[in-house]
Amino acid sequence: MKQTNVSIFIPHVGCPYRCSFCDQRSISGTVKPPRGSDVSRILEEQAGHLSDIGMTAEIAFFGGSFTAVPRGYMTELLEAAKAAAEKYPVYNGIRCSTRPDCISEEILGLLKNYGVTAIELGAQSMCDEVLKANDRGHTAEDVRRAARLIKAYGIELGLQMMTGLYRDSEEYVRRTAEEFIALAPKTVRVYPTVILDGTRLGELYKSGEYRSFSFERTVDLCAELLGLFEKNNIAVIRMGLHASADVEREMLGGVYHPAFREICESRLFLNELKQQLGTLPTGNYTVFTDGKNISKVIGQRRGNIAALADKGYIIKVREQAGVHLAVVPENRGN
Ligand code: SF4
Repeated sequence: MKQTNVSIFIPHVGCPYRCSFCDQRSISGTVKPPRGSDVSRILEEQAGHLSDIGMTAEIAFFGGSFTAVPRGYMTELLEAAKAAAEKYPVYNGIRCSTRPDCISEEILGLLKNYGVTAIELGAQSMCDEVLKANDRGHTAEDVRRAARLIKAYGIELGLQMMTGLYRDSEEYVRRTAEEFIALAPKTVRVYPTVILDGTRLGELYKSGEYRSFSFERTVDLCAELLGLFEKNNIAVIRMGLHASADVEREMLGGVYHPAFREICESRLFLNELKQQLGTLPTGNYTVFTDGKNISKVIGQRRGNIAALADKGYIIKVREQAGVHLAVVPENRGN
């Protein structure tokens, strides 16, 4: 059965900090925090829909810092989620996202009792300099400690990182990815920084003190991260912010594209093709790949084909089920 998330956004409630990049109102597209009754209603509506289309789902509390909200409010939401998970078999877990410094043994015991199965930590960077420059209010050591504690409680660990923050560098981004791999999460999310109006980053950007990484540099870097995490059996469950009219309206700069993941996957194929073709003479080639990869091998607006043509390699892409990438000189193709 196919699996999805029913996401419930908890905007900014209880968050003890105001990170340089964060405007939860734009990111979540909602201002009013949901009550337990809202959660019950949403989950009841979605349960019918999910069973109609034959899918199961995790109930996902995202957006703010779930374990930092007032305790009575957090348990109100969890009670509604737990009741829905017990009533509707389409729900097979509860996940939440929070800050690394809002995890303790006491909180984990409570979450476990309510049936929470996965926690995602907004780590953003594993470099203290970057964390400090972006007003995160926690350290890389807080991430390591919280990550180990979550795993010790038998709860699935997810980690979220950003690229191109204030005072960030490619070296710091790579170091963050390596530290993530050492912590062995089940999932990661990678978010290139989007600079929103009304945030401190927005002010730094307007004053000229801060520029994020360029789009091309970010695609190269994020493609590298995608390859690295996949090689280490860590599922990359999100790359880039969800498409949102609010974000598009309030965005001043940074990297945002509704198909950002597909662009990174496509860059990975381009890099692989360059590597394979680099050992071969220029000329005409047929590239065989599984049907699911064809658009990524070709690239957006045939970008990969054009980039290879610039290097003297004229490529035709053909479907072959089950094949990742096979390069054949054209006179030997079929
Ligand atoms: S901790 Fe999360 S919700 Fe709070 S300000 Fe930072 S990014 Fe936003």
